[in-house]
Amino acid sequence: MTAAYEYETHEYDVVVVGAGGAGLRATLGMAEQGLRTACISKVFPTRSHTVAAQGGIAASLGNMGPDSWQWHMYDTVKGSDWLGDTDAMEYLAREAPKAVYELEHYGVPFSRTEEGKIYQRPFGGHTTEFGEGPPVQRTCAAADRTGHAILHTLYGQSLKNNAEFYIEYFAIDLIMSEDGVCQGVLCWKLDDGTMHLFAAKMVVLATGGYGRAYFSATSAHTCTGDGGGMTARAGLPLQDMEFVQFHPTGIYGSGCLITEGARGEGGYLTNSEGERFMERYAPTYKDLASRDVVSRCMTLEIREGRGVGADGDHIHLHLNHLPPETLAERLPGISESARIFAGVDLTKEPIPVLPTVHYNMGGIPTNYWGEVLAPTKDDSEAIAPGLMAVGEAGCASVHGANRLGSNSLIDLVVFGRAAAIRAGQTVDPKTPVPTPNSRSVEAAFSRFDGLRYAKGHVPTSDLRLEMQKTMQADAAVFRTDKTLAEGQKKMEAVAGKISDVKVTDTSLVWNSDLMETLELTNLIPNAVATVTAAAARKESRGAHAHEDYPDRDDENWRKHSLVWFKGNEASLGYRGVITQPLTSHNDGGIDLKKIAPKARVY
Ligand SMILES: Cc1cc2nc3c(=O)[nH]c(=O)nc-3n(C[C@H](O)[C@H](O)[C@H](O)COP(=O)(O)OP(=O)(O)OC[C@H]3O[C@@H](n4cnc5c(N)ncnc54)[C@H](O)[C@@H]3O)c2cc1C
Repeated sequence: MTAAYEYETHEYDVVVVGAGGAGLRATLGMAEQGLRTACISKVFPTRSHTVAAQGGIAASLGNMGPDSWQWHMYDTVKGSDWLGDTDAMEYLAREAPKAVYELEHYGVPFSRTEEGKIYQRPFGGHTTEFGEGPPVQRTCAAADRTGHAILHTLYGQSLKNNAEFYIEYFAIDLIMSEDGVCQGVLCWKLDDGTMHLFAAKMVVLATGGYGRAYFSATSAHTCTGDGGGMTARAGLPLQDMEFVQFHPTGIYGSGCLITEGARGEGGYLTNSEGERFMERYAPTYKDLASRDVVSRCMTLEIREGRGVGADGDHIHLHLNHLPPETLAERLPGISESARIFAGVDLTKEPIPVLPTVHYNMGGIPTNYWGEVLAPTKDDSEAIAPGLMAVGEAGCASVHGANRLGSNSLIDLVVFGRAAAIRAGQTVDPKTPVPTPNSRSVEAAFSRFDGLRYAKGHVPTSDLRLEMQKTMQADAAVFRTDKTLAEGQKKMEAVAGKISDVKVTDTSLVWNSDLMETLELTNLIPNAVATVTAAAARKESRGAHAHEDYPDRDDENWRKHSLVWFKGNEASLGYRGVITQPLTSHNDGGIDLKKIAPKARVY
């Protein structure tokens, strides 16, 4: 019997866990329809990782030249390396303009063209004429702080519509009925140590990505895959977890992003021998080859013993040969980041960099309404009642094996909005809120209590570092059967050691030791699912670059990976890719011939 915890019960029609772009858009949409809506967040809403998004949000508004949703859809299909679900990708591209105009009307201060229209900039992989024409300007921007502008606007609008916020509440576990219906979520209020049970007709997970499973990530320290962890413990699968996007130049240690513009201005990479190694791998484009290529070459140099630093585990990025005026004028932000996060004066010394995790394509599988899938042998599209997932935590799947830049912010608002539309149809405000299954509540408290009083030998931070170094070395940009087998073995060991974890602080008020331990128990299933699905996938597709199987194999592998957990035990399954669009060509939909699989070259 576990220690008895007192708790307060709250009843809502809908509880949204997460207040990033996806969670806030869902919250706003729910509240606008009069559903009694709570939004729970472990950090203040406008501190969610979405705030860091600079580049912009893709939608075929056509403000800067011809564009169409069909072209946007084609680019997304191709970007996904034909692993995305066609219905969801159509929904994304079609609804994107509407979702952006709604943001405009809510008050997002978009940058403007001379005529006063929303300004749009070019971004990688976004083209015209189904990939045959020139690049398109499709990415809507609010200067270089688009995510910041969206978050602040959506938070204000949600308050205006009487959504109730529970800020600095940490969601521990989902409460599930015996027959698999989600009935709510158990939370810990971080600042006073009280416990709260939220009972709801619908729970929406909008908890963001799990970049922090890796040693070097551009994402915030809060990106610990909590939604994926909770879902896995509820007996539901995670999908396409092997697809992790890397950016070549994150600052070593902090992971803070150094823009591609640094190499655009003439920056170059060197190894421990001082060699400009990219000349060897990519004689034409050198340091300006595509992101995945540069990331893979850097990793190769490190693996072959030519990394820099005491541990030989990173690479140098040189800008010190450039005139100081150029640096001050063109890269002022980078100069500042290098100074703050690497302690480097980039006019004099190179910046230590490492391919850095930037985005998780995989997540909690959903349909294009955000409803979480609970696939069975007979029905791959079966739904887990009472549960939705949106944003980077979810996998709709629109990004498939690789996400295009600026397609995440649009994913957040399109599917946050879709989840609200769907809940408006399925959640009846007049029915009573379900009584949470007491066994499930007890199990959640028991897990929490076990970690609170964990008296093992391994400090949380040591175990987390072991996981992060393993993932960085063995499930990185560049994979082989050997590295993945090693990664799987080492991650099994990490998962096993959680039973020997040591938590030193047993208090309930501002106990960061305990919170980080809870986060670690969420990161681990995400990481294990990533190596497990990667080790099984014998092909290269999108971000999954497998040295031993360099080609894409549509015949055997055009399918979604699913990983279930029973305790620490991971098991694999698969689900077919949805290849049918929502609208037929005769009704103005896309011509299926246009999006038939072919080689992905740019
Ligand atoms: C540096 C950077 C730049 C980027 N730039 C762009 C760009 O220009 N364009 C683009 O399209 N994409 C960009 N991306 C990707 C995009 O920003 C993210 O994918 C997206 O913001 C994720 O949003 P989200 O709403 O899913 O989650 P987040 O914004 O990460 O929010 C997660 C929320 O969940 C809450 N939460 C998590 N766990 C718990 C828990 N246990 N209990 C309670 N609350 C919890 C958090 O408090 C937070 O509110 C960028 C990403 C990074 C890291």
